[in-house]
Amino acid sequence: MNHTDFSQLGLPAALQDNLDSLGYQQMTPIQAQSLPLVLAGKDLIAKAKTGSGKTAAFGLGLLAALDVSRLEVQALVLCPTRELADQVATEIRRLARCLPNVKLVTLCGGVPTAPQSASLGFGAHIAVGTPGRLLKHLQQGTLRLESLRTLVLDEADRMLDMGFGEDIHQVISFAPRERQTLLFSATYPEGIANMSRGVQRQPVEVSVEALH
Ligand code: ADP
Ligand code: MG
Repeated sequence: MNHTDFSQLGLPAALQDNLDSLGYQQMTPIQAQSLPLVLAGKDLIAKAKTGSGKTAAFGLGLLAALDVSRLEVQALVLCPTRELADQVATEIRRLARCLPNVKLVTLCGGVPTAPQSASLGFGAHIAVGTPGRLLKHLQQGTLRLESLRTLVLDEADRMLDMGFGEDIHQVISFAPRERQTLLFSATYPEGIANMSRGVQRQPVEVSVEALH
């Protein structure tokens, strides 16, 4: 067995079978570095570029820890744009297609809030969205994070560049203190270090310079 085979992670059998059927055999470098830590519940700062397979690096962790019998938001993924949120949602749905009852909602700006609120009313396990709209749902009480286990900041440097820093902090103020926080970023400027200090606990840093 190669040290980058997914099969060494001890994932739930349904997830492993699905990876096989998707043709995902080898982990990408960021997945190989991140997944053992993510599955162990660590906080993580992962530096990796677009196209390196970041979604599965956190998505498999979210799905492995999910308690599908509890229809409460257990994982929240913050993305800079609607396009990126849609990409993350699509990839998590692919990874989760072996777990037919997993409910994922995307919550992004630029579209009416009411249908999103209605969808949240039916319950969801995973929420993916942009900071401003997530904050709106938290403030109006349509999104609740009491059962949140894992929070993901995807493309954190882009979110800061777009001026979402304050919204992110406000979103996180609704999250339980006891949680796992995963931060993914292509670059690691001072703003990211500051954000990490504010929202993470003893994060482990991993870095992949080249594309896979
Ligand atoms: P990033 O978020 O880093 O830009 P994605 O998570 O969107 O990257 O993944 C990029 C593409 O690579 C997606 O199409 C995904 O399905 C594919 N992919 C990810 N991990 C693997 C893997 N281990 N084996 C094969 N394809 C993969
Ligand atoms: Mg991505």
